[in-house]
Amino acid sequence: MSQLHGFETLAIHAGQEPDPLTGAVVPPVYLTSTFKQDGVGGLRNGYEYSRAANPTRTALEECLAALEAGTHASAFASGLAAEDCVIRAVCAPGDHVIVPADAYGGTLRLFRTVLARWGLSSSAVNLADPEAVRAALRPDTRLIWCETPTNPLLALTDIPGLAALAHDAEALLAVDNTFASPYLQQPLTLGADIVMHSTTKYLGGHSDVIGGAVIVRDEELGDQIRFHQFAVGAIAGPFDAWLTLRGIRTLPVRMDRHCDNAQQIAAALHAHPRVTRVMYPGLPDHPGHEIARKQMRRFGGMISFQVAGGEEAAAELCGRTRLFTLAESLGGVESLIEHPARMTHLSAKGTAQEVPGDLVRISVGIENAADLMADLTHVLN
Ligand code: PLP
Repeated sequence: MSQLHGFETLAIHAGQEPDPLTGAVVPPVYLTSTFKQDGVGGLRNGYEYSRAANPTRTALEECLAALEAGTHASAFASGLAAEDCVIRAVCAPGDHVIVPADAYGGTLRLFRTVLARWGLSSSAVNLADPEAVRAALRPDTRLIWCETPTNPLLALTDIPGLAALAHDAEALLAVDNTFASPYLQQPLTLGADIVMHSTTKYLGGHSDVIGGAVIVRDEELGDQIRFHQFAVGAIAGPFDAWLTLRGIRTLPVRMDRHCDNAQQIAAALHAHPRVTRVMYPGLPDHPGHEIARKQMRRFGGMISFQVAGGEEAAAELCGRTRLFTLAESLGGVESLIEHPARMTHLSAKGTAQEVPGDLVRISVGIENAADLMADLTHVLN
């Protein structure tokens, strides 16, 4: 579908033509592992075996490619499966990768453990500091991995600036766009080579499916990723692809409400006496606010904040909210709260990437903003 269409139109129509056989308006769930051949090698529309391609997954992949202004998308069983595929498709054992010092804990664990054993070396760097990135670049650096905003500290990285640094060093730039979603930020249009998502989050949007995606513009890169996806097999199943696509149709309206609610809640938290620091890119005093204004449409639905009273107080508070459910993950319609030091980022404990104990992370849902603030005020007071 043409890139000339608006984002909201692409979310509903890209890859989602009515079914040619029946006219079904919603792409059917093709629950089949294999496809009949019309004579040996006579494939119908290229479908042979569902690890290679499945029409429901194709619909999702075409939609994702359009939303990220890319040309090739591959949908995976999880965000981490997508990350693993990017690295193995692009890098070889012995290569070096630069990763954000405060990336999602699971991403850092993947690099530190699994990929290190495969022979990949990585340097964790503050990507907001171009000098630190320049100093970390080596002749064997193949890739810079970026996450912006980061999970859970909401730090921003200037994507065009980092892309220039990567390309000068003949490295590629991959951006984990999970926190922003393509509605708020399109890294490929800002100079990145690869975009990755945990579609589990805003794209799926309803906390009912785990998935991942990789989107690129370069045909050779697209073929490499697709080959690895096929050869290793961590694909999104048809029903998971269908659920994700159903979520995507409402992404723009959901994101607008997430952003409206989060902006109000961030301002209220900022003014609260028990809150010592609020991390939200939409606040003018956030160090990445200007970068966010340049490269994001709006500021997103994720907020982290620190509270007086230290780690125990933060953990205790997380257990007392009524509307904010105490749970890992983010990006669903319902609001969630979590304590990164003891939950999502526990694996970083004792490393340079350990997160502050007094930190609370909230995923602001699309409920009534006043109700959400009343819930937080109740546990803060
Ligand atoms: N990237 C980010 C920013 C995440 O927050 C997550 C999960 O929380 C992942 C990647 C991993 O995605 P998944 O849980 O779908 O494997």
